[in-house]
Amino acid sequence: MHTYDISLTVSPALPVWPGDPPIEFTPLSQIAKGDDANVTHMSMCVHVGTHIDAPLHFLADGRAVHEIDLRLLMGRVFVLNLPDVDVITGDVLREAEIPPRTRRLLFKTRNSAWWAAGHTTFREDYVALSADAAEYLVGRGVKVVGVDYLSVAPFHDTVPTHRILLGAGIVVIEGLNLSAVSEGRYTLYCLPLKLLGTDGAPARAVLVGV
Ligand SMILES: [Zn+2]
Repeated sequence: MHTYDISLTVSPALPVWPGDPPIEFTPLSQIAKGDDANVTHMSMCVHVGTHIDAPLHFLADGRAVHEIDLRLLMGRVFVLNLPDVDVITGDVLREAEIPPRTRRLLFKTRNSAWWAAGHTTFREDYVALSADAAEYLVGRGVKVVGVDYLSVAPFHDTVPTHRILLGAGIVVIEGLNLSAVSEGRYTLYCLPLKLLGTDGAPARAVLVGV
């Protein structure tokens, strides 16, 4: 049994969505300065690093993070490797060999190599899902969709893909690092912070080989 930590390391060096505040860790007390303990204050958007999007992110009356059924985020998952794709479209998915009855699906693309290389500057040319890919996944009964960059949708067209997926009750995981993982079946454990009423939350995500 092999365990893969597919989470990004959260630090001020991690790229954030353009316009979002930077990730900041500020010492409140420091042993090196004579204090009894090291204590850090952190400041960041809920959509940093590896995180989930709750339906509330794009739907005014959608469920918030604390209302998501954790059973969705734990269980059998399929990692699909699409190394040569610039946009994940419905046609790409129709041609891909996604096992029948797949309920959790993670997309490994060329984005993951950026994380492996220590990527620190936001890029707009990441691989993401088009609206018709989102419709295809809804039609297949997928319940969890994970991607290896900071948005499930293309940079210049973020609304339709999010609305289709979140509107169908699909939980979206963004900011995965799948560089060390091969295509295939695993067990997923993705546990978001239990934040009350928020539209997203940072998460630790792990795959266990079967
Ligand atoms: Zn997000």
